[in-house]
Amino acid sequence: MANSGIPSEQWAQVVEKLGGPVSYKKIAVQKPGPDEVLINIKYSGVCHTDLHAMMGDWPLPTKLPLVGGHEGAGVVVAKGELVKDLEIGDHAGVKWLNGSCLACFFCMQADEPLCPQALLSGYTVDGSFQQYAIAKAAHVARIPKECNLEAVAPVLCAGITVYKGLKESGARPGQYVAIVGAGGGLGSMAIQYARAMGLLVIAIDQGEEKEHSCKTLGAAAYVDFMKSPDLVQEVKDATSDGLGPHAVLLLAVQEKPFQQATEYIRSRGTVICIGMPAKAYIKAPVFDTVTRMVTIKGSYVGNRQDTQEALDFFRRGLIKVPYKTVGLSQLQDVFQLMHDGRIVGRYVVDTSR
Ligand code: NAD
Ligand code: ZN
Ligand code: ZN
Repeated sequence: MANSGIPSEQWAQVVEKLGGPVSYKKIAVQKPGPDEVLINIKYSGVCHTDLHAMMGDWPLPTKLPLVGGHEGAGVVVAKGELVKDLEIGDHAGVKWLNGSCLACFFCMQADEPLCPQALLSGYTVDGSFQQYAIAKAAHVARIPKECNLEAVAPVLCAGITVYKGLKESGARPGQYVAIVGAGGGLGSMAIQYARAMGLLVIAIDQGEEKEHSCKTLGAAAYVDFMKSPDLVQEVKDATSDGLGPHAVLLLAVQEKPFQQATEYIRSRGTVICIGMPAKAYIKAPVFDTVTRMVTIKGSYVGNRQDTQEALDFFRRGLIKVPYKTVGLSQLQDVFQLMHDGRIVGRYVVDTSR
């Protein structure tokens, strides 16, 4: 294991108790185990999941104290003796799935996010809101050298997740997909992946700034959920034959749009649940679900192959999403903006300041 130039202490943002805030402090740098790598994180995207984790929104407990973050892009600086296919100096990414057993029923068929022993970055193990993070080598994203580490960071969760969700939806080129929460981090990525996959996008979010951003990214139509007098009708009307979108990607952090989606989805269409508002339920009338043959499914990040495919779209220049970069020390301010729904695109933190 090489360890030249690796400090014993580093800056990190630490959640000490549920509800936050995060505290910016120095903590020890860990050493990678035999099947792990140590990545010098240069930039990390800030996902709404990081805020859910700090607030204790979900039924799954987090570790505490916790270093959050799971869109970490950086450079491999040390590796365990079993790691053969990554070298010191390679560019790599810490994503939500930090590790899995690789041997269970789910791992065997490349459904590793469903592994009962999955390790989750920034949730059950420390993540990328620190300068040096550890991940299982098998699961680390291989980032091509030509990709800018700052711009690529949000692909590591937002990009992978929406790309997988679009694949799970079964939508084909020329069909309509409604993207709910289109102005946010996952939403902005979703517009770009959908466009690259030949889909027509109906973006749903609030405010003129997000409208401008969604249309610039390539949305064919924009529906403002705060202003629309009849959102269900407006979404249907945005399709050329008025029958509604073939697929819906639900990325919002509120419960209401989950219900609306089952109403405006085209018959035979697929509703994909990705956003995870606290304590929310999805409800649909059984009669309509049956007689309109509607599919409702969940989609959860992506596997290692989805990761590399999502990164390849980025490498080819197809994914350009607005982001703002601030110092890691300002993470709490980012959480505040996120809580208020005021982020257009993604925030990225620079771990050097
Ligand atoms: P974000 O805060 O950047 O974006 C959320 C967007 O939803 C905002 O633009 C907000 O204005 C919009 N919104 C809120 N209410 C809405 C409504 N009623 N209709 C339409 N839009 C509405 O958040 P993000 O980082 O993009 O994450 C979104 C959600 O996805 C979070 O719950 C997060 O935990 C979840 N997530 C899930 C997975 C997965 O694998 N399933 C992966 C990553 C994130
Ligand atoms: Zn995420
Ligand atoms: Zn497994």
